[in-house]
Amino acid sequence: MAFDIKQAVSLLKKEVADYQVPVVDLIAAQTKDPFKVLVATILSARTKDEVTATASRRLFKHAGTVEELAVLSVTKLEKIIYPVGFFRNKARYLAALPAVLQEKFSGRVPDTIDELIQLPGVGRKTANLVVAVAFNKPAICVDTHVHRIMNIWGYVDTKTPLQTEMALRDKLPPRYWLEINSILVAFGQGTCKPRRPHCDRCVLKDLCPKNGVTPRKTQNKTKATQTDSQVYTFVSWNVNGLRAALKKGFLDTFFELDADIFALQEIKALPDQLPDEIKQIAGYHVFWYPAQKKGYSGTAVFSKIEPKNVIYGLGDHTFDSEGRVITLEFNDFFFVNAYFPNAQPKLKRIDFKQKFNNTILASMDRFAEKKSVVLCGDLNVAHKPIDLANPKANEKNPGYSAQERAWMDEVVHAGYVDTFRLFNTDPGQYTWWSYRFNARAKNIGWRIDYFLVDPGSRDRVIDAAIHDDITGSDHCPVSLHFR
Ligand code: SF4
Repeated sequence: MAFDIKQAVSLLKKEVADYQVPVVDLIAAQTKDPFKVLVATILSARTKDEVTATASRRLFKHAGTVEELAVLSVTKLEKIIYPVGFFRNKARYLAALPAVLQEKFSGRVPDTIDELIQLPGVGRKTANLVVAVAFNKPAICVDTHVHRIMNIWGYVDTKTPLQTEMALRDKLPPRYWLEINSILVAFGQGTCKPRRPHCDRCVLKDLCPKNGVTPRKTQNKTKATQTDSQVYTFVSWNVNGLRAALKKGFLDTFFELDADIFALQEIKALPDQLPDEIKQIAGYHVFWYPAQKKGYSGTAVFSKIEPKNVIYGLGDHTFDSEGRVITLEFNDFFFVNAYFPNAQPKLKRIDFKQKFNNTILASMDRFAEKKSVVLCGDLNVAHKPIDLANPKANEKNPGYSAQERAWMDEVVHAGYVDTFRLFNTDPGQYTWWSYRFNARAKNIGWRIDYFLVDPGSRDRVIDAAIHDDITGSDHCPVSLHFR
């Protein structure tokens, strides 16, 4: 039986009305400016909507017109648009854009696909989107969601997005051309996800032939929303390079621990350098915060619960260029994932670390005035003699210097709770071991990875643990059960 496209679009329009509006449509609605739509569309490729929205806002403060964009250098543009995907390439495209617009189109943004694809960084998909969204002209923007879902429905039978676009031009009633992309992007992100779509709660479940689909199993522990009585599992792990960890079975550990929120430090990679299997894990919202310097630092968070808000960094470029802190805000708690700086041999970077420490503590204090705060990550400090194998020998070394311990004292005196020590006061409980001297086998280690909670949230802590049997990094994961 032929797929009933009319009924499907009608049902989906109601369904996605509450979903987030795709960022490019939002910018079109807010500005009615083809230049801004074009720029936001270029930024949006391979980038999450919230990251595109923030980067676009920043960029439009500096360059709201073609003329203003023309005076920005590639280096300046890289800084402004970071961390959108492929930010270096996109900065180059944007820097070249004003001259091409001027030379070929007298400084205006063209309104046809053939003209738009002559611009730097503009492919067929971007061109279709700009024509449809900025100029309200018939165009079908076929991205991966449209291509994938149209084939699942059996409405087309195609191998590539371009074939899908051509097939839809023949078949799809023109009244749907403008809106189909926005509808299917929202639907593809929210329900008909690329891996294991939510067929069980889909409005089209009786209509859809589900061609080639493996629906997700309903799992009790998968939580799409937050409710009062839940107990959450949080995991934090310094993976010391996510690409290396993936080769050592990271995903097996990830699924085995089945955390509601899984926080990573020291990912040492840009999302573009990672395989799709880690970028799109069904049931998780993923937030990346890589460092600007390649192969260094960086954090990421995977969350089953959709946060209300995501804050990248601490508002200080000195630290934020190193991608050290991501904060997710939920209904009744903030989740702060942090990779604290290493003070470095001879404490060369102690001033930098102290400034970072003071800044993040002030930020936690501000959050704690509003609701619970959970801070996790590699704090790069062992607090007490019990927290490392050789305290005496390390008293002047980074990670156990007097200054770093004094900061931990300050945190604890302020009432923050080192959750692991609520449940385990034994020595020999470590989270990091040097790769040298067979240190892990001999358990010559340091406890430098923590879950801390604010003073008012001690009663919300149910359990905390160190998973020192899990390998794949020189750190092991730590976890917290929190209600
Ligand atoms: S029933 Fe499943 S495969 Fe079909 S549209 Fe809905 S979520 Fe997608």
